[in-house]
Amino acid sequence: MPAPSVAIRGQRSLLRQIREALAGGGPAQARLDMVASIIARSMVAEVCSLYMRRAGGEMELFATEGLDRSAVHVTRMKPGEGLIGEIMKVGRPLNLADAPEHPAFSYRPETGEDPYHAFLGVPLLRGGRAIGVLVVQNRTERVYSDDEVEDLQIVAMVLAEMVAGGELITEDELKGVELAPHKPERLIGTKFSEGLAYGVAVLHEPPPAPSQLLSEDAAAEEARLDVAIAALQAQIDTMLEGQHGLVEASYEVLDTYRMFAHDGGWNRSLVDAVRNGLTAEAAVERVRSEHRARLGQARDPYLRERLHDLEDLNDRLLRHLSGDGHVARELPENAVLIARNLGPADLLEYDRTRLRGLLLEEGSAASHAAIVARALDIPCVGRLDDLRNRVSEGDPVVVDGETGEAYLRPRPDIIKSVEQRMEIRAQRKAEFAKLRDTPAFTRDGTKITLLMNAGLEVDLDILVEAGAEGIGLFRTEFQFMVAEEMPRFNAQTALYERVMDAANGMPVTFRTLDLGGDKVLPYMEAEREDNPALGWRAIRMGLDRPALLRLQLRALIAAAKGRPLRIMFPLVATVDEFRAARDLVDHEVAWAQRRGRQAPSRLEVGAMIEAPSVLLHLDALLPMTDFVSVGTNDLMQYLFAADRGNPRMSDRYDPLSPPALRALDMIQKACAETGTPVSVCGEMAGRPLEAFTLVALGFSRLSMPPAGVGPVKQMVLSCDREAARRGVSPLLKSSAGSVRNEIETLARKIYLAI
Ligand code: PEP
Ligand code: MG
Repeated sequence: MPAPSVAIRGQRSLLRQIREALAGGGPAQARLDMVASIIARSMVAEVCSLYMRRAGGEMELFATEGLDRSAVHVTRMKPGEGLIGEIMKVGRPLNLADAPEHPAFSYRPETGEDPYHAFLGVPLLRGGRAIGVLVVQNRTERVYSDDEVEDLQIVAMVLAEMVAGGELITEDELKGVELAPHKPERLIGTKFSEGLAYGVAVLHEPPPAPSQLLSEDAAAEEARLDVAIAALQAQIDTMLEGQHGLVEASYEVLDTYRMFAHDGGWNRSLVDAVRNGLTAEAAVERVRSEHRARLGQARDPYLRERLHDLEDLNDRLLRHLSGDGHVARELPENAVLIARNLGPADLLEYDRTRLRGLLLEEGSAASHAAIVARALDIPCVGRLDDLRNRVSEGDPVVVDGETGEAYLRPRPDIIKSVEQRMEIRAQRKAEFAKLRDTPAFTRDGTKITLLMNAGLEVDLDILVEAGAEGIGLFRTEFQFMVAEEMPRFNAQTALYERVMDAANGMPVTFRTLDLGGDKVLPYMEAEREDNPALGWRAIRMGLDRPALLRLQLRALIAAAKGRPLRIMFPLVATVDEFRAARDLVDHEVAWAQRRGRQAPSRLEVGAMIEAPSVLLHLDALLPMTDFVSVGTNDLMQYLFAADRGNPRMSDRYDPLSPPALRALDMIQKACAETGTPVSVCGEMAGRPLEAFTLVALGFSRLSMPPAGVGPVKQMVLSCDREAARRGVSPLLKSSAGSVRNEIETLARKIYLAI
């Protein structure tokens, strides 16, 4: 058995010295200062300081060696201020050769830190939350080595445990130091998935940091490690068999994990670290930091994504070592998951029947977690600043996916009002469910076809439940967005086939890849564009990269297996684009036939009306198409020149306004004249008042998010279309900026009063 390495022996002696200093008794501050000086000496640093978080988030200097001691308990940084605030925010070390050069640096003259340049700060993490920051500084400009970073992290890990155990700081001093926040808080974020939830916080966090770093018995540690690795490998293999019913792409994600889990190099590094004297847990952390250092610098986005896989695997392995191999622990009855962000495989593991909501610190409406949350109908709010520092496991929390807010430890009046709102939602849901099999006819006898928008396999489960008559928009890019690798031909074909099977003869309109803009793929090198929404996206990308588009068309034709097929192209801005895209479809059908494959029994090719340019060329475009669908999300964005993803723009322009209604009216009339079937598939089709207006304008096919079908059907059943038309028509000529109030009054007369 080899002897422990020099670094490990150094660690062992450092930790022993700290423990001895603490055991020596004496005034609390003196003991704390001594710990700072021991760390400084051992790290060959001129400064070592400890900052702790006070309630309210201020960071207070608690002890120092090297800085002016009169600043202790005097220097306080506001939440998020300076380098200390930065470390608290990201929860990771900050290693700088010249700290004053950093944009976040905040100068505090009372500390006398002027001469120091090199700076290394690491967070004190407790239960996944930063409770303090440990810093070392040196005069000379230099970057600390990976080993030094790791050493300081290990010391910080131990200090965090000591603080929590009351060993390091006295009760008195701890007053106001926030080990766990307890006051009610309201955080404002962005809504990613509609709905309301009230439940208890479950932290989707890395497992607790290893409490023991240096092993007593290397052979026993190696045996523990072997058992855990075998359990991890078996778990990943089982997940691959189980599949948990998400998109096919997730299979490829897991397959990549399997490759890593069985990777000999990774296993060997772990065993080496254990043989050097580390506990199995500490070995995982050590190998993890090596990977971080190596892959974190990679410019290639694919490699950086692999780091994410490895992080995930390391966490899983730590959980196996602690005796529980699941990322998703057993959830309480009404769990609200709290995370920085979630990968596609993470959500697979949680018990959906117990998961009530999701709160994320990061993410975007187009991120994996948000897409899957919407598909599963789980309320989700994201972009909640500093979330994980403000909530503890088991805290009561509210997810308000209607307003984009989160309430942490809410007051009783908030809980009561949320519960009432949830009750109303549940009642309305039950009412809509009763209408499920009722066809949507207006009172004066016009059939309105209600379809749903979908994009993931999980959406299919609710197709029948939602009471939709088909899928009016299948967003094929979602499969690409939740995958970590480009879905191949077989994966695409398999998904499309399952969609058609689930629709069971009902129509499905597949929209070809609508990528670009804010829909970027981690595995595809994307050029930065100044105006992504106006950039290289959707059909433009498809026509420039015909191989990708043709592969998708081929998959759609193969999946149809002789059934009818409807294909739609996004963001058509000129007739030439549509013509070229249609040629590609014809080409692919001919290709399939030449190979003796079945062609679709009926093929319909349509265009989305989203760009204002085609509004003025409908007479040319419509005769080329078999159908069109109005993508009002994009159409409104381009009509009003207002970014649809920017919250500052979101309520600024009203689709219930004369210019928007005139555009819609133009489309409807042009389609009626040419006999072109038309639907509306933007979000507005799923909101009753907007849907009422569309019906008044003469649209009779609406495709919407599944949750909209019930409320819109209720509207249709009580609506007199002719009366609606008579009421809405004159509003198109209005000189007002918005006619929402007028339409609301009208709608109330026509249907809400019934
Ligand atoms: C739209 O733009 O209205 C639309 C339905 O497409 P997406 O929201 O996917 O861009
Ligand atoms: Mg669109």
